[in-house]
Amino acid sequence: MTLRFGVPNKGRLNEKTIELLVKAGIELGDDIGRKLYIKASNQDVEIMFVRAQDIPEFIERGAIDVGITGLDQVAESGYDLVDVLDLQFGFCRLSVAVPEGSSIRDVKDIKDGSRIATSFPKITKKYFDSLGKNVSVIVVSGAAEIMPYLGVSDYIVDLVSTGSTLKMNRLVEIGTIVESQAAIISSKAALETNKAEIDEIASSIYSVLRAENKKYLMANVPKSVLDKVEEIIPGLEGPTVIPLAGNSGFAAVHAVIDATEVYRVISELKKIGAKGILTMPIERQVD
Ligand code: AMP
Repeated sequence: MTLRFGVPNKGRLNEKTIELLVKAGIELGDDIGRKLYIKASNQDVEIMFVRAQDIPEFIERGAIDVGITGLDQVAESGYDLVDVLDLQFGFCRLSVAVPEGSSIRDVKDIKDGSRIATSFPKITKKYFDSLGKNVSVIVVSGAAEIMPYLGVSDYIVDLVSTGSTLKMNRLVEIGTIVESQAAIISSKAALETNKAEIDEIASSIYSVLRAENKKYLMANVPKSVLDKVEEIIPGLEGPTVIPLAGNSGFAAVHAVIDATEVYRVISELKKIGAKGILTMPIERQVD
Protein backbone atom coordinates (compact mmCIF):
# COMPACT_ATOMS: atom_id res chain seq x y z
CA MET A 1 0.00 0.00 0.00
CA THR A 2 1.26 3.49 -0.84
CA LEU A 3 2.58 5.28 2.24
CA ARG A 4 1.06 8.78 2.59
CA PHE A 5 3.65 11.18 3.97
CA GLY A 6 2.72 14.74 5.08
CA VAL A 7 5.31 17.48 4.57
CA PRO A 8 5.01 21.19 5.51
CA ASN A 9 4.07 23.08 2.33
CA LYS A 10 5.64 26.35 3.54
CA GLY A 11 7.06 27.97 6.64
CA ARG A 12 10.21 27.28 8.58
CA LEU A 13 10.21 23.52 8.31
CA ASN A 14 9.52 23.26 4.57
CA GLU A 15 12.97 23.67 3.01
CA LYS A 16 14.97 21.50 5.40
CA THR A 17 12.32 18.76 5.31
CA ILE A 18 12.45 18.52 1.52
CA GLU A 19 16.26 18.58 1.59
CA LEU A 20 16.24 15.65 4.05
CA LEU A 21 13.78 13.60 1.97
CA VAL A 22 15.79 14.14 -1.19
CA LYS A 23 19.08 13.26 0.56
CA ALA A 24 17.38 10.16 1.96
CA GLY A 25 16.84 9.05 -1.64
CA ILE A 26 13.14 9.87 -2.12
CA GLU A 27 12.92 11.18 -5.68
CA LEU A 28 10.43 14.04 -5.88
CA GLY A 29 11.12 15.37 -9.39
CA ASP A 30 11.05 19.02 -10.41
CA ASP A 31 7.50 19.92 -9.43
CA ILE A 32 8.15 20.56 -5.73
CA GLY A 33 6.42 23.80 -4.77
CA ARG A 34 3.81 23.53 -7.53
CA LYS A 35 2.03 20.26 -6.81
CA LEU A 36 -0.07 19.52 -3.72
CA TYR A 37 1.08 15.92 -3.75
CA ILE A 38 3.87 14.04 -5.49
CA LYS A 39 4.31 10.31 -5.93
CA ALA A 40 7.98 9.42 -5.40
CA SER A 41 9.32 7.96 -8.62
CA ASN A 42 11.45 5.32 -6.92
CA GLN A 43 9.41 4.28 -3.86
CA ASP A 44 5.82 3.53 -2.95
CA VAL A 45 5.46 6.85 -1.12
CA GLU A 46 3.14 9.76 -1.81
CA ILE A 47 4.25 13.13 -0.41
CA MET A 48 1.35 15.43 0.57
CA PHE A 49 2.17 19.12 0.99
CA VAL A 50 0.05 20.49 3.84
CA ARG A 51 0.40 23.03 6.65
CA ALA A 52 2.69 21.95 9.49
CA GLN A 53 -0.07 22.66 11.98
CA ASP A 54 -2.57 20.38 10.19
CA ILE A 55 -0.28 17.34 10.11
CA PRO A 56 -1.21 15.96 13.59
CA GLU A 57 -4.94 16.20 12.74
CA PHE A 58 -4.46 14.43 9.39
CA ILE A 59 -2.46 11.64 11.04
CA GLU A 60 -5.05 11.23 13.80
CA ARG A 61 -7.82 10.95 11.18
CA GLY A 62 -5.82 8.45 9.12
CA ALA A 63 -5.71 10.78 6.08
CA ILE A 64 -1.92 10.43 6.09
CA ASP A 65 0.20 7.69 7.68
CA VAL A 66 3.22 9.69 8.73
CA GLY A 67 4.46 13.28 8.58
CA ILE A 68 7.09 15.79 9.55
CA THR A 69 6.08 18.65 11.82
CA GLY A 70 7.12 20.42 15.02
CA LEU A 71 6.60 18.70 18.37
CA ASP A 72 4.87 21.94 19.45
CA GLN A 73 2.13 21.19 16.91
CA VAL A 74 1.77 17.66 18.22
CA ALA A 75 1.48 18.98 21.78
CA GLU A 76 -1.13 21.56 20.70
CA SER A 77 -3.18 18.92 18.89
CA GLY A 78 -3.59 17.00 22.15
CA TYR A 79 -3.51 13.70 20.22
CA ASP A 80 -1.57 10.72 21.47
CA LEU A 81 0.72 10.42 18.43
CA VAL A 82 4.05 8.61 18.11
CA ASP A 83 7.35 10.51 17.80
CA VAL A 84 9.17 8.14 15.42
CA LEU A 85 12.36 10.22 15.07
CA ASP A 86 13.56 13.63 16.27
CA LEU A 87 15.15 15.44 13.34
CA GLN A 88 17.61 17.86 15.00
CA PHE A 89 16.30 21.00 13.30
CA GLY A 90 13.48 23.49 13.89
CA PHE A 91 14.55 23.84 17.51
CA CYS A 92 12.30 26.23 19.40
CA ARG A 93 10.29 26.50 22.59
CA LEU A 94 6.77 27.61 23.37
CA SER A 95 7.19 30.31 25.98
CA VAL A 96 5.28 32.79 28.08
CA ALA A 97 6.46 36.37 27.54
CA VAL A 98 5.53 39.65 29.20
CA PRO A 99 6.16 43.31 28.24
CA GLU A 100 9.54 44.62 29.44
CA GLY A 101 7.78 47.17 31.66
CA SER A 102 5.68 44.57 33.48
CA SER A 103 6.53 43.79 37.09
CA ILE A 104 5.78 40.09 36.45
CA ARG A 105 8.93 38.01 36.09
CA ASP A 106 7.52 34.59 37.11
CA VAL A 107 4.50 32.78 35.65
CA LYS A 108 3.36 32.05 39.21
CA ASP A 109 2.71 35.77 39.65
CA ILE A 110 0.35 36.03 36.66
CA LYS A 111 -3.07 36.98 38.02
CA ASP A 112 -6.39 35.27 37.31
CA GLY A 113 -8.24 37.05 34.51
CA SER A 114 -5.03 38.06 32.69
CA ARG A 115 -5.41 38.06 28.89
CA ILE A 116 -2.96 35.87 26.98
CA ALA A 117 -2.69 36.03 23.17
CA THR A 118 -1.49 32.89 21.41
CA SER A 119 -1.91 30.65 18.39
CA PHE A 120 -1.51 27.68 20.76
CA PRO A 121 -4.76 27.98 22.75
CA LYS A 122 -5.17 24.36 23.87
CA ILE A 123 -1.73 23.88 25.33
CA THR A 124 -1.75 27.40 26.84
CA LYS A 125 -5.04 26.72 28.62
CA LYS A 126 -3.78 23.34 29.83
CA TYR A 127 -0.56 24.91 31.12
CA PHE A 128 -2.29 27.66 33.10
CA ASP A 129 -4.91 25.19 34.37
CA SER A 130 -2.08 23.05 35.70
CA LEU A 131 -0.79 26.12 37.60
CA GLY A 132 -4.30 26.67 38.98
CA LYS A 133 -4.69 29.94 37.08
CA ASN A 134 -7.85 31.04 35.37
CA VAL A 135 -6.55 33.17 32.49
CA SER A 136 -8.37 34.40 29.42
CA VAL A 137 -6.84 32.91 26.26
CA ILE A 138 -7.14 35.11 23.16
CA VAL A 139 -6.66 33.11 19.95
CA VAL A 140 -4.64 34.80 17.20
CA SER A 141 -3.32 33.17 14.05
CA GLY A 142 0.07 34.91 14.13
CA ALA A 143 1.97 38.02 15.25
CA ALA A 144 1.15 37.37 18.91
CA GLU A 145 4.12 39.59 19.85
CA ILE A 146 2.27 42.75 18.85
CA MET A 147 -0.85 42.01 20.94
CA PRO A 148 0.32 43.55 24.26
CA TYR A 149 1.34 46.72 22.37
CA LEU A 150 -2.11 46.84 20.71
CA GLY A 151 -3.75 46.39 24.10
CA VAL A 152 -5.37 43.14 22.89
CA SER A 153 -3.64 41.06 25.58
CA ASP A 154 -1.52 41.46 28.71
CA TYR A 155 0.93 38.66 27.90
CA ILE A 156 1.64 36.21 25.11
CA VAL A 157 2.51 32.55 24.58
CA ASP A 158 4.57 32.08 21.42
CA LEU A 159 7.39 30.13 19.80
CA VAL A 160 10.89 31.39 20.52
CA SER A 161 14.19 30.25 19.07
CA THR A 162 16.89 32.90 19.46
CA GLY A 163 14.70 35.36 21.38
CA SER A 164 15.50 38.23 18.99
CA THR A 165 11.85 38.71 17.88
CA LEU A 166 10.76 39.00 21.51
CA LYS A 167 13.50 41.51 22.16
CA MET A 168 12.55 43.56 19.11
CA ASN A 169 9.00 43.74 20.45
CA ARG A 170 10.16 44.63 23.98
CA LEU A 171 9.01 41.38 25.53
CA VAL A 172 10.72 39.23 28.17
CA GLU A 173 10.45 35.45 28.29
CA ILE A 174 9.45 34.24 31.76
CA GLY A 175 8.61 30.55 31.34
CA THR A 176 8.74 27.62 28.92
CA ILE A 177 5.68 25.47 28.25
CA VAL A 178 7.18 23.01 25.80
CA GLU A 179 10.53 22.40 24.02
CA SER A 180 10.23 21.57 20.34
CA GLN A 181 12.06 20.41 17.24
CA ALA A 182 10.96 18.89 13.94
CA ALA A 183 10.14 15.18 14.12
CA ILE A 184 8.74 12.30 12.10
CA ILE A 185 5.31 11.69 13.56
CA SER A 186 2.91 8.80 13.10
CA SER A 187 0.07 7.13 14.98
CA LYS A 188 -0.15 3.75 16.69
CA ALA A 189 -2.72 2.64 14.10
CA ALA A 190 -0.58 3.69 11.11
CA LEU A 191 2.48 2.05 12.65
CA GLU A 192 0.57 -1.20 13.04
CA THR A 193 -0.31 -1.36 9.35
CA ASN A 194 2.80 0.26 7.85
CA LYS A 195 5.56 -0.46 10.35
CA ALA A 196 8.11 -1.80 7.84
CA GLU A 197 7.63 1.10 5.39
CA ILE A 198 7.74 3.78 8.11
CA ASP A 199 10.83 2.18 9.71
CA GLU A 200 12.57 2.10 6.35
CA ILE A 201 11.97 5.79 5.62
CA ALA A 202 12.88 6.80 9.18
CA SER A 203 16.13 4.84 9.03
CA SER A 204 17.09 6.39 5.65
CA ILE A 205 16.46 9.84 7.11
CA TYR A 206 18.39 8.90 10.25
CA SER A 207 21.37 7.85 8.14
CA VAL A 208 21.36 11.30 6.51
CA LEU A 209 21.19 13.07 9.88
CA ARG A 210 24.10 11.03 11.23
CA ALA A 211 26.18 11.72 8.13
CA GLU A 212 25.53 15.48 8.31
CA ASN A 213 27.63 15.70 11.46
CA LYS A 214 30.49 13.61 10.07
CA LYS A 215 33.34 14.06 7.58
CA TYR A 216 35.39 11.51 5.71
CA LEU A 217 39.08 12.21 6.20
CA MET A 218 42.01 10.89 4.14
CA ALA A 219 45.68 11.57 4.75
CA ASN A 220 49.07 10.13 3.85
CA VAL A 221 50.97 9.52 7.07
CA PRO A 222 54.66 8.53 7.49
CA LYS A 223 54.71 4.82 8.40
CA SER A 224 57.08 5.57 11.29
CA VAL A 225 54.37 7.56 13.14
CA LEU A 226 51.29 5.44 12.35
CA ASP A 227 50.92 4.54 16.04
CA LYS A 228 50.30 8.24 16.78
CA VAL A 229 47.32 8.30 14.38
CA GLU A 230 45.20 6.22 16.72
CA GLU A 231 45.70 8.78 19.47
CA ILE A 232 44.77 11.64 17.13
CA ILE A 233 41.71 9.86 15.69
CA PRO A 234 40.20 7.84 18.51
CA GLY A 235 37.14 5.78 17.70
CA LEU A 236 35.59 2.40 18.20
CA GLU A 237 37.19 0.76 15.22
CA GLY A 238 40.08 3.13 14.62
CA PRO A 239 41.12 4.46 11.22
CA THR A 240 41.66 2.29 8.14
CA VAL A 241 45.34 2.11 7.11
CA ILE A 242 46.06 1.29 3.46
CA PRO A 243 49.55 0.70 2.02
CA LEU A 244 50.56 3.00 -0.85
CA ALA A 245 51.96 1.68 -4.13
CA GLY A 246 55.76 1.97 -4.22
CA ASN A 247 57.82 2.21 -1.10
CA SER A 248 57.13 5.84 -0.31
CA GLY A 249 57.48 5.52 3.43
CA PHE A 250 53.87 6.70 3.70
CA ALA A 251 50.55 4.88 4.27
CA ALA A 252 47.06 6.19 3.51
CA VAL A 253 44.82 6.68 6.53
CA HIS A 254 41.02 6.92 6.08
CA ALA A 255 38.59 7.70 8.90
CA VAL A 256 35.11 9.05 9.64
CA ILE A 257 35.34 11.88 12.14
CA ASP A 258 32.95 14.34 13.79
CA ALA A 259 32.70 17.59 11.82
CA THR A 260 33.59 19.44 15.03
CA GLU A 261 36.91 17.52 15.20
CA VAL A 262 38.13 18.42 11.70
CA TYR A 263 40.22 21.42 12.71
CA ARG A 264 41.98 19.64 15.61
CA VAL A 265 42.62 16.42 13.66
CA ILE A 266 44.10 18.24 10.65
CA SER A 267 46.44 20.36 12.74
CA GLU A 268 47.63 17.34 14.74
CA LEU A 269 48.12 15.23 11.61
CA LYS A 270 50.21 18.03 10.08
CA LYS A 271 52.40 18.10 13.20
CA ILE A 272 53.31 14.42 12.74
CA GLY A 273 54.19 14.99 9.05
CA ALA A 274 50.99 13.91 7.29
CA LYS A 275 50.61 15.01 3.65
CA GLY A 276 47.74 15.19 1.13
CA ILE A 277 45.05 15.66 3.78
CA LEU A 278 41.51 15.66 2.36
CA THR A 279 38.12 15.92 4.04
CA MET A 280 34.84 15.13 2.28
CA PRO A 281 31.14 15.28 3.12
CA ILE A 282 29.37 11.96 3.70
CA GLU A 283 25.92 11.42 2.18
CA ARG A 284 24.75 8.65 4.49
CA GLN A 285 26.01 6.64 7.41
CA VAL A 286 24.36 3.23 7.77
CA ASP A 287 25.44 0.56 10.26
P1 AMP B 1 5.61 28.11 10.63
O1 AMP B 1 6.89 28.43 9.93
O2 AMP B 1 5.07 29.30 11.38
O3 AMP B 1 4.63 27.40 9.75
O4 AMP B 1 5.97 27.09 11.79
C1 AMP B 1 6.07 25.72 11.57
C2 AMP B 1 6.87 25.10 12.68
O5 AMP B 1 8.19 25.62 12.63
C3 AMP B 1 6.39 25.37 14.10
O6 AMP B 1 5.35 24.54 14.49
C4 AMP B 1 7.66 25.12 14.86
O7 AMP B 1 7.85 23.73 15.09
C5 AMP B 1 8.73 25.64 13.92
N1 AMP B 1 9.02 27.03 14.28
C6 AMP B 1 8.21 28.06 14.31
N2 AMP B 1 8.81 29.17 14.75
C7 AMP B 1 10.06 28.83 14.98
C8 AMP B 1 11.19 29.54 15.41
N3 AMP B 1 11.14 30.81 15.76
N4 AMP B 1 12.33 28.87 15.45
C9 AMP B 1 12.41 27.57 15.10
N5 AMP B 1 11.35 26.85 14.71
C10 AMP B 1 10.20 27.46 14.65
